[in-house]
Amino acid sequence: MSINVTRTFLPPFDEYTTQLKRAWDKGWITNNGELVRELEQKLKEYLGVKHLLFCSNGTTALQIAIKALNITGEIITTPYSYVATTNAILWENCTPVFVDISNKDFCIDTKKIEGAITSGTQAILATHVYGLPCNIEEIQTIAGKYDLNVIYDGAHAFGCEYGGQSLLNYGDITICSFHGTKIFHTAEGGCIICRDETLYKKLFLIRSFGHSLDDYYYVGINAKNSELHAAMGLSVLPYVKKNIEKNRLLFYRYLKNLNDPFLQFLVPGEVFSYNYGYFPVVFESEEVLVKVKKKLEEEMIFPRRYFYPSLNTLPFLKDTNDCPVSESISRKVLCLPLYGQLTGDDVDRISSLVLKVIRK
Ligand SMILES: *Cc1c(COP(=O)(O)O)cnc(C)c1O
Repeated sequence: MSINVTRTFLPPFDEYTTQLKRAWDKGWITNNGELVRELEQKLKEYLGVKHLLFCSNGTTALQIAIKALNITGEIITTPYSYVATTNAILWENCTPVFVDISNKDFCIDTKKIEGAITSGTQAILATHVYGLPCNIEEIQTIAGKYDLNVIYDGAHAFGCEYGGQSLLNYGDITICSFHGTKIFHTAEGGCIICRDETLYKKLFLIRSFGHSLDDYYYVGINAKNSELHAAMGLSVLPYVKKNIEKNRLLFYRYLKNLNDPFLQFLVPGEVFSYNYGYFPVVFESEEVLVKVKKKLEEEMIFPRRYFYPSLNTLPFLKDTNDCPVSESISRKVLCLPLYGQLTGDDVDRISSLVLKVIRK
């Protein structure tokens, strides 16, 4: 059987249908129903956050975050993320200004942010890439000094904690993705998290066409999610902690197996609780990466080049700038398979195939 970079966790089927039946019995399948509200409540408790809105996906969550904060100009952002981060900026007719990443955690390099700020800068949109935290204190200081909004793309950060609280609890807004490939999922879905009550009310309206009954407030969109997706979330959530623990064991098994001076890894700091969602490996060169990928694919193992290409090199950008660190890392990084159903033997086999190629 083939092994992909990840595999969707499916809860026991009867647990899903038990949740679904609640929607059937009520004859209510969308529009802020009982299951959506229950999922939002449970997620708020699980994450310890004040306001959370369940959305149709992480990308629309990013778009309405930008819209609700009235951002229309330049947004300082990371070139090292999934393409949705940049697309949301472009889709909202804003201008992405790429600031290179740090070689240590692959998040935006805060030392380089101030040099990119102009009179048109309105916000910083940074990604906690692989669930590792950006330099939150430094970003907050810069945002305060220049009066900028801060949005975090926390699509990878479900279950990660920083500074004694959820990593999703920072900035003006943090979004998360609940896509089927993520550590907590609702098949398709995502959320917006914020602390400000007024902003929450605005986001609530914007998510649902911008009106409440006969009162019309904003240009809204439809970014709600359904009872069927909430049912999936309610049946997946009880398993998240167990799945993270399984990933943690596999993560450290890879790390131990692949102990080699020519490989670079991202290891979470000790004070930081992590979700072990990805296992990125940086090779010496793109040439080595291509060889490793080919070798694994011959064995029906399919790692992914997360994240490649560096987003500042996307072909449809009108105006861009160089980000040498991000460009270099994105050419050399490969995410090895990591998910709860993978066995220790799988990890050992994948590791020895990798080592065979790099030690040849
Ligand atoms: C998955 C992902 C998204 C998009 O989320 P969807 O729910 O698939 O729309 C956004 N940003 C990052 C960094 C992601 O990995």
